[in-house]
Amino acid sequence: MGLKALENGLIRFTNVKVPRENILWGEGKGLKLALTTLNTGRLTLPASAAGGSKAMLNVSRWWSNERVQWGAPIGKHEAVAQKVGMMAANTFAMEAISGLTVGLAEHGGYDIRLEAAIAKMYNTEHGWRIVDDTLQIRGGRGYETADSLRARGEPAIPIERAMRDFRINLIFEGSSEIMRLFIAREAVDHHFKLAFPIVAPESSFGQRVRAAAKSAPFYATWYPSRWLPRATTYGEFGSLAKHLRFAERRARKLGRSLFHAMVRFGPRLERKQMVLFRAVDIGAELFAIAAACVRAQMLAKKGNSKAVALADLFCREARVRVDALFDRFYGSNDQAIYRVAQQVLRGEHAWLEQGIVGMMDIEAEAELATEDPAEKDEPAVAR
Ligand SMILES: Cc1cc2nc3c(=O)[nH]c(=O)nc-3n(C[C@H](O)[C@H](O)[C@H](O)COP(=O)(O)OP(=O)(O)OC[C@H]3O[C@@H](n4cnc5c(N)ncnc54)[C@H](O)[C@@H]3O)c2cc1C
Repeated sequence: MGLKALENGLIRFTNVKVPRENILWGEGKGLKLALTTLNTGRLTLPASAAGGSKAMLNVSRWWSNERVQWGAPIGKHEAVAQKVGMMAANTFAMEAISGLTVGLAEHGGYDIRLEAAIAKMYNTEHGWRIVDDTLQIRGGRGYETADSLRARGEPAIPIERAMRDFRINLIFEGSSEIMRLFIAREAVDHHFKLAFPIVAPESSFGQRVRAAAKSAPFYATWYPSRWLPRATTYGEFGSLAKHLRFAERRARKLGRSLFHAMVRFGPRLERKQMVLFRAVDIGAELFAIAAACVRAQMLAKKGNSKAVALADLFCREARVRVDALFDRFYGSNDQAIYRVAQQVLRGEHAWLEQGIVGMMDIEAEAELATEDPAEKDEPAVAR
């Protein structure tokens, strides 16, 4: 689709001999090394997503001034202005998230697993929406290839290519879903270990009592602290202080909400991806608010006070999203959605797929593709 110079494939290691001096970290530790490397390796993606969004903002600003429709530059029409304003605010936040996370990694001594995963997930998803908005702002020209535009004397701006090249960012180095699972697991791991035996249906009375005794000292201080406001006012952040106070309050609420979800669902919480993913999205927004405020304050200290307006707009919108996520934390339609999905998977709604000239006979195609190339005469080259 994009990144044409890359080839994707599965690698098998069968009877591979590795010279002793080439073993990294030690025998059997390769996977751990690979996963650790991913923490910093995946930081290239939030950075490039922020960079790509800057390029999109540049195109959108130019075209929104240039293109006149219905008697005014399209940027003066609210529908386009809304996109341009949020594009700038979100790009600012994305750069803040990337800068903060990379700064932590370069400083060393921090466990950045959560921050790296949030940065990857958040920036690639916001970046994708920015590419999509840019294409929309460019209208029909956004959909055309650069060659097509050039051929008819228009500036050859490759938004069609940007869209193809950008899309993979939500999939490789850990797909958005896997990032959310990873973040959720990290966030609830401590509770899983401490308190699950109390709420697990299969636990005996004795196991429950022992787990309650073990976890009591932790929860006796942790749980009340999720309700008690902190004394800090974040006064040094000026007009942005209110956003940081909001983030601090909602972070405590998130802790409480996850704990309540664990009591409600018990071990089943691990499979409640719709609930867990909302919690992750709230956490990501709060991290983004903090990053945006810190960056705006840093830039203001260096003489760029304009960044405060971008951070303020970003935080206002992020706060709306956070409260909307809390409002439907348990998703009143989650069960209905899952039920219908399972009906679809069982083929009960296959009737809906009828009445078209389909793309292909998928089952026949799948059968052809699963034939083992090793059993055929021809070499296993890419098709
Ligand atoms: C251009 C390109 C370059 C690549 N380069 C590299 C590379 O250099 N090195 C490398 O190692 N890999 C590389 N990959 C592979 C890439 O990392 C994988 O494609 C990616 O991790 C997703 O895995 P998958 O394709 O097997 O999807 P699957 O794991 O089959 O996932 C399919 C869908 O199901 C979702 N899903 C899967 N499991 C769960 C779950 N438990 N809960 C909820 N949802 C789930 C996924 O998010 C996805 O939406 C590359 C891929 C491409 C396309």
